[in-house]
Amino acid sequence: MPTIKKLLIANRGEIALRIMRTAREMGIQTVAIYSEADRTALHVRYADESVCVGTAPSSESYLRADTIIDVCKRLHVDAIHPGYGFLSENANFARAVRDAGLIFVGPSPESIEVMGSKLAAKAAVANYNIPMVPGTPAAITDRTEAKRISATIGYPILIKASAGGGGKGMRVVDNEADFDEQMDRAVSEAISAFGDGSVFIEKYVTSPRHVEIQVLGDQQGNIIHLFERECSIQRRHQKVVEEAPSSILTPEIRDAMGRAAVDVARACGYYGAGTVEFIVNDTLDFYFLEMNTRLQVEHPVTELITGVDLVRQMIYIAEGKPLTIKQEDLTIKGHAMEVRVYAEDPANNFLPDVGTLDTYVRPQGNGVRVDDGFEQGMAIPIYYDPMIAKLITYGDTREEAIQKMIRAIDEYQISGVQTTLPFCRFVMEHDAFRSGHFDTGFVSKYFTPDNLTPPTNTTEDQLAVVLAAWLMNNKPQQNGVSVPINGKGSKWKANRLG
Ligand code: ADP
Repeated sequence: MPTIKKLLIANRGEIALRIMRTAREMGIQTVAIYSEADRTALHVRYADESVCVGTAPSSESYLRADTIIDVCKRLHVDAIHPGYGFLSENANFARAVRDAGLIFVGPSPESIEVMGSKLAAKAAVANYNIPMVPGTPAAITDRTEAKRISATIGYPILIKASAGGGGKGMRVVDNEADFDEQMDRAVSEAISAFGDGSVFIEKYVTSPRHVEIQVLGDQQGNIIHLFERECSIQRRHQKVVEEAPSSILTPEIRDAMGRAAVDVARACGYYGAGTVEFIVNDTLDFYFLEMNTRLQVEHPVTELITGVDLVRQMIYIAEGKPLTIKQEDLTIKGHAMEVRVYAEDPANNFLPDVGTLDTYVRPQGNGVRVDDGFEQGMAIPIYYDPMIAKLITYGDTREEAIQKMIRAIDEYQISGVQTTLPFCRFVMEHDAFRSGHFDTGFVSKYFTPDNLTPPTNTTEDQLAVVLAAWLMNNKPQQNGVSVPINGKGSKWKANRLG
C-alpha cells in the first residue's frame, strides 16, 4: 500500500491551508503552488516548499494541469490534493495525475465524469430508487416539446444547465409566457460558463430547503455517511450560511436520506469524500439534486459534529486504507454553524468589493473556528473567489451555536472592504432563522439593505472614498492594465465553489 510522504495542494487560500494543517499533523511534507498574485499568501508561507506556477489568472496558474504535474515530478511529490474549485472536479486532470503515477486525493476520474453532469448523474442512480424531482431525463432543445413537458409538470419550473454549477445557467419560469425568454438566458449562460448549452427541465420545488449529506467511501467499497448539512440560506443560488445538523430532519428522514446518499455514491463506485445534495420540500419529501465529488467549502460543520477530520480520511482512502469508521460508530454531537465571509457588499446586491484588508482581526475563544487565508494589510486579489474566511461556531445546542456566532461576528474586525458579516448577523437574529422555519427564498423574502445596521464610517473610510473617487477620475494604469480600486461592478473571475 502506498504511503503519502509528500503532498502538493493544487489550490490556494483557506482550503490550501486547511489541507496543509492536517498533512502536517500526519507528518506529510507539503508543497504549495501559487500564482504571481499570491506570492505573499499565507498558504505559500505555510508550506514546506512553494512553487510559482504562473500569472494571476487561474487559467495561467491554478488550472495549469501539466505544469502542476511537472512540479510534482520535479519535487518527488507522491500525491495531489485538489481542494475545491479549480481542478478538483476535472476528470481529465484526475486521469492525468493517475497516468503520471501520482495519487489523486479524491475519487476516480470515472466517478467525477458521471457526477459532473447532472443528467448523467440522474441516469446513473436510476436503478437505486432514489427520489428525484419530476423533469426531463435528457437535455432538451425542441421548444414546443419543452413547453408541453413544462405544462404537464406544472409551473413554476426550473431550466437547468446539465453541466451546471455555482447556480449558473439556472432559470425559474413562472408561466408559459416567460418560457422563451428564460430558456434563451439559461442556454446562453450555460454556453458562456461551461461551453455546453444543454439544458433540462425540473419541477421548481416550492419552499425548498437545501440539505446535503456528507459521504466517505474507501477503495474497498465501504461507504458511510456523516449526516447532513443544512445550506438553505443562499444568495444567487449560492450558500452563505450552513449548519449541521438541520433543524427540520427527524431521525427517520435523516436515516432515509443517509441511505439514499450512500446509494448514490455506490451507483458511481465512489471513493473519497463526497457530498450528495438533496432538495427538501415543506412536507419533508426529499429529492436528489446532484453529487459534488470533492471536499465542500462547508465541510467543517460536519467535522465539528462528528469529530472526524475529513481531510485525514481522504488521505487514508487515497493511500488505499480501508475505512476504520463504521456507520454505527457515528453520532451527532452538538451543533455547528458556519457563515461565509465574502468581500461582497450586502447593501449593494452582494456585489464583490475589491480592496485591502486595512483592519483584519479574527474572533477567538471557546467554540470558534476561523478558516481563512488572509492577514491584515493583504489585498484580496480580484482574480479569484471573493471569500475571505469561513467563520464556524460550535455549541451543545443550535441556540448556543447561534449565540456564539453573533458574539464572534461582533468580535470580527474587518475594514477596507465591505463584507457579508452584517448580513450574516441579520440572519442569526432573524425570527424565521431562529425558529428553523425558512427556505432558500429567505433572502428575497426577508432581506433588504435597510435591515443592516449601518457601519460607522471612520475617517479612514471617508479618506478611502475620496481617494477612490480621485483614482477613478485619473484612471491609473499598471502595465497597461487598469488598476482595480475599491469600486463597484468589478469583474471577478468565477471559480466554482461548494
Ligand atoms: P449548482 O450545481 O449550480 O449549484 P444545484 O442543482 O446544486 O445547482 O442547485 C443549486 C440551488 O438551486 C439549490 O441549492 C436550490 O436552492 C436551488 N434548486 C435547485 N434545483 C431546484 C428545484 N428543482 N426546485 C427548487 N430549487 C432548486
